[in-house]
Amino acid sequence: MTTLLWLRDDLRTLDHEALTAAVEDGADVVALWIREEPGEADDGGRLGPRPLGAAVRWWYHRSLEQLSVRLEALGIPLVFASGDPRSVVPELAGSLGAGTVRWSRRYAPRSRSLDAEVKTLLGAAGVEAHSHAGALLTEPWTVTTAAGGNYRVFTPFHRAAAQIPVGTPLPAPEPLGGPPHDLLARLARLHDDGSLTSLTDLALADTSPAWWEDTVAEHWAPGESAAVEELEAIEAGVGGYAETRDMPGDRESTSRLSPRLRSGELSPRQVLTAAHAADVPDQDRAAFVRQLYWRDFAWSLTYHHPDLDRMPLRPEFRAFPYAPDDHALRAWARGRTGIRLVDAGMRQLWQTGWMHNRVRMTAASLLVKNLLQPWQDGEAWFWDTLVDADEANNPVSWQWVAGCGADASPYFRIFNPDTQAKRFDPEGVYVARWVPEADSPLSGYPEPVVDLRQSRAEALAALDVMKERA
Ligand code: FAD
Repeated sequence: MTTLLWLRDDLRTLDHEALTAAVEDGADVVALWIREEPGEADDGGRLGPRPLGAAVRWWYHRSLEQLSVRLEALGIPLVFASGDPRSVVPELAGSLGAGTVRWSRRYAPRSRSLDAEVKTLLGAAGVEAHSHAGALLTEPWTVTTAAGGNYRVFTPFHRAAAQIPVGTPLPAPEPLGGPPHDLLARLARLHDDGSLTSLTDLALADTSPAWWEDTVAEHWAPGESAAVEELEAIEAGVGGYAETRDMPGDRESTSRLSPRLRSGELSPRQVLTAAHAADVPDQDRAAFVRQLYWRDFAWSLTYHHPDLDRMPLRPEFRAFPYAPDDHALRAWARGRTGIRLVDAGMRQLWQTGWMHNRVRMTAASLLVKNLLQPWQDGEAWFWDTLVDADEANNPVSWQWVAGCGADASPYFRIFNPDTQAKRFDPEGVYVARWVPEADSPLSGYPEPVVDLRQSRAEALAALDVMKERA
């Protein structure tokens, strides 16, 4: 009997509970990755995960290429399909005569609904379906308040979550002897009849404009091998973290592991274990580990609240008087607001698929407060361009900045980008790197699109309008 391993956001072979269990089933294993197109849910909303943004698609294409080689070395073929998992998974299980299907759990409500449907369909066909942990340090339903509810404030969440043992990472499983010829022949037939496709034909990296090949590819090497190398060098990112994590000009002020966690090339348990083993001061380790728990917190909120990318957690913010303006949004997205730190960040994002956290906060604040643009528009831009665009961290962070999220920064805390630059980029290294023309009068660098002081006052007035409406 074959076991089918349905991979999604867990593109690794190390510390992989579902993979380990699949190998321990003692049969052949076939791994499957689907470009999911599940259609609508009963409520008319999306069913399944949010469609991947362009930068993450590019990353996944490269990462899957490498995963295919690593799985092959374990005797496991990786096959590809596109379509509705509710038909793809049961049909493939049937064609392969699989007795068991395994996957790593996902936590967004719309993905959970889809996975539950797949599980029911498999059960009806007499196929066992098992979901496994792996994407988070703590399962969201295990971190509860004394009254049994879920936390909406980070500090008590962290205190409770940190009590839950995380365990040690699993090694890669022992290689299987297979795959046998008849299984390979069956897979080839499924390929011929169109049930399966190739990674290239999934066209993940096939979007326009093709900016990633020229620029983003220079900055990143997707895939588990590079991820493991980065993890081994984690001391560089964690040493000094407590003091330098807010300094965008310092290239090693943070770990830059976010796309590894997003794609599941690394599990958070591997990262936590490496941080504990790193030879760094305790205060740096503690500050870094706290951020890893922010990721769990964001997923915990996502688990409990569907549609966080569109709906503010604080309902009164539905009445906020944003003033959508394509011109302002485009200037922001292209790094042409004339506000240097923000432009530097937006250009770093466009050219590398990543932006430093301090600048993400500043750039987001300018868009939603000084420019009065809906946070959902900025969130969507980040979703498409960040290599770490994450279904929980991105909307939760945007809502945090916009003042409408759980444990959000109060609305009246409006970041002043000039003050931020003076404090966190005092030598101007970061700005000079990404906006080198800013100080040259003939460069055509734009004048600021807003007056920071006046737009701050207008943002506070907009908050009053919302309060009157609510
Ligand atoms: P490090 O500082 O080295 O932290 C280690 C890990 O902890 C990160 O890789 C990440 O997984 C987690 N982490 C760190 N900070 C946060 C945080 N504030 N919230 C949740 N998890 C955190 N992070 C994403 O992973 N994906 C996103 O789509 C995303 N969108 C964001 C949008 C905005 C507007 C803002 C303000 C922040 C966003 N973040 C997002 C959070 C944070 O900016 C990134 O996680 C961080 O910059 C990644 O760099 P790093 O790996 O070097 O982080």
